[in-house]
Amino acid sequence: MIPSASALLDWYERHRRDLPWRAPPGGRTPPYHVWLSEIMLQQTTVVTVKPYYSRFLSRYPTIEALAKAPQEDVLAAWAGLGYYTRARNLHACAQQIAALGAFPSTVPALRALPGIGDYTARAIAAIAFGVPVVPVDGNVERVTSRLFAIDTPLPAARRLLAQQAAILNTEPAAQANASDFAQALFDLGATICTPRAPTCILCPWQPHCSAYAQGIAEKLPVKAPRGAKPQKYGACFVLRDRHGAVWLRRRPEKGLLAGMTELPGTNWRLEAWSEQEALSHAPAQAEWREVGFVTHVFTHLTLQLTVYDAQISEFRSHPLGEGFSCSVQALEAQALPSVMRKCLALAGLP
Ligand code: SF4
Repeated sequence: MIPSASALLDWYERHRRDLPWRAPPGGRTPPYHVWLSEIMLQQTTVVTVKPYYSRFLSRYPTIEALAKAPQEDVLAAWAGLGYYTRARNLHACAQQIAALGAFPSTVPALRALPGIGDYTARAIAAIAFGVPVVPVDGNVERVTSRLFAIDTPLPAARRLLAQQAAILNTEPAAQANASDFAQALFDLGATICTPRAPTCILCPWQPHCSAYAQGIAEKLPVKAPRGAKPQKYGACFVLRDRHGAVWLRRRPEKGLLAGMTELPGTNWRLEAWSEQEALSHAPAQAEWREVGFVTHVFTHLTLQLTVYDAQISEFRSHPLGEGFSCSVQALEAQALPSVMRKCLALAGLP
């Protein structure tokens, strides 16, 4: 049985979350703001995103301003949020939208843009343009699996969950209020139908929920067991001159952390590096000192980097290879990913 859209919309009116990217009741969030928040929220929590979102918008208040900015500046504004392909796609997408002259409003036209998948296209179409579609993220998958007591393990259940979620908005109230309905679903999943200990007692859909009736809400959705992430190892080098400047370099344009700034170092491999082996990749002959190691978890791997530091008098007088000098004061503005900031912090740098 399809649960009542009106019951959910009534609940949303009373309990909606106050979020910086959310328009006040009766208003409609501009597509730029929906898009930016949705991209930032991929693999990142609301609490982490809030300050980044506000800073990013004050730096790039319009899509045109974002489109005109150099990519390095956009990456620097993104630094710390991780998953940097999102920032590169955001920039490329802003350029396409600026060239089009308007933000596309249909799901197929939105999907044609860089970095916009099915979920994000539906979220923008529903929230910003009132198109009656259901965006299916992790929250909506969870709510749907419980409403219909679907116990097929994820990811195999994804298609079935999307089909079932798509019928949640068939009632005219949901069709007429597509923006609120989509956001109400997100809020229900984020605040009531939570992964652990859902508060079914407060849920507007409890009378229609099969998982609740069967007492299995917390067991759903079922997830297939994951394989362990591979562990990789590397070393990086914090080289300073007598003025305190640090030697940095740019990562290649393709692959993990593409185009970001980094400390010079070894490549990352499955086998640990001996000190002798690692130091053969140091950018200069110097008195290298091991200062410890940093562990960082990426989506597909866990990385352990051994950090060495050393000081030389002048960068100029050494054949350092590709890279550039950066003063301590300018480090903050660099597009340094979190893993590199951890390495710098270990060596006592901001
Ligand atoms: Fe989720 Fe419980 Fe509501 Fe069912 S009744 S949708 S399990 S919060």
